[in-house]
Amino acid sequence: MIYLDYSATTPVSYEVMDTYTKVTKEYIGNANSLHSLGVKSANLLESATKQIASIFDVSPQEIIYTSGATEANNMALIGTVLANHRKGKHIIVSKLEHPSIYAICDYLKSIGFEVSYVNNDKEGLIDFDDLKNLVRSDTILVSISAVNSELGIRQPLKMIRQIIKKENFGTIFHSDMTQAIGKIPVNFHDVDLASMSAHKIFAPKGIGFLYKSSMVKITPLLYGSGKSNYLKPGTPPLPLIASLSKACRLANTDLEKRERFVSLLKEKIVNALSNYPDIVLNDSKYAIPQILNISLLKIEPETFIHALEKRDVYLSTNTACSSGDTSLGVMALYDDVTRARHTIRISLSYMTTTDEVNRFLTIFDEEYNKLITLKS
Ligand code: PMP
Repeated sequence: MIYLDYSATTPVSYEVMDTYTKVTKEYIGNANSLHSLGVKSANLLESATKQIASIFDVSPQEIIYTSGATEANNMALIGTVLANHRKGKHIIVSKLEHPSIYAICDYLKSIGFEVSYVNNDKEGLIDFDDLKNLVRSDTILVSISAVNSELGIRQPLKMIRQIIKKENFGTIFHSDMTQAIGKIPVNFHDVDLASMSAHKIFAPKGIGFLYKSSMVKITPLLYGSGKSNYLKPGTPPLPLIASLSKACRLANTDLEKRERFVSLLKEKIVNALSNYPDIVLNDSKYAIPQILNISLLKIEPETFIHALEKRDVYLSTNTACSSGDTSLGVMALYDDVTRARHTIRISLSYMTTTDEVNRFLTIFDEEYNKLITLKS
């Protein structure tokens, strides 16, 4: 198998799976229970959270567990606007967000909030002047992803924060860091709120967290019992949380070295795919090496994905979350519908090998030529 869909999800690493099974077997108590089994679980919860907090240089109270990034994004956006609706009704997002952010924005618009979409340049970089002009005295939130999931475009969050705060110090800055964490270094101090998901960093599906700076107040979306966190009541899923903590530690080892290795793999693919007349690369100088988006102008991407699948090669059309749709990211960069309807995303990780890339390029060539011949 050649798996090149790491940005859709990752397999669980053996080390993380070990943690999951060990905690499931050995920590049967509810972390909210008073007895010794509960205390044992609560202690592990505390140490797992402390480890995550120390990796990201924040305090444990600032980590709120969620089921993944979709929930973290909901908590961040809806929680913030509900807490601040008396200050204003205006929010800003980029044109390079994950579909979950747009779905939340549609909901917020339906209950009376106003959403502005900040422009970007041809390389995908946020247009700083546009952002500056959009931030108003009633802007309560700006949400800009650290790395876009379709094209891998990385935004300079520190600079973006400075622009926002200079215009309105009270505007809260959220970033969806789901595609950044585990791939490139991130700094939570660049933002007020950040979302992440464990299944992108070789941990199980069903867990993630929202980083919420202690300076920021958000309204809870869930109500219930449990002492662990008022924003996420209920029984903490300890095996998932311990797995997430382990995965965060493993993900933040050798980040730069891994990034350099993946850059070489991407370069190899870019060089090979640049030679096809009807393939365009939707690449940018701001794209991270783990993601390469291309458009097959003469072929339906779904047909190609299935042709590759028959050869045991797996990749996505635009993203797993918007498969089959027009790529919003490609539209935001090129404003070209044909290009945006024909995208495929090749996503690599430090687990990808040179041999896999070589075999992928051979299979790609064979299957592509077969389909192109059928077309002509
Ligand atoms: N945001 C981004 C940038 C993503 O890539 C994803 C996953 N495709 C999500 C949010 C949603 O994450 P989850 O599957 O954990 O809900």
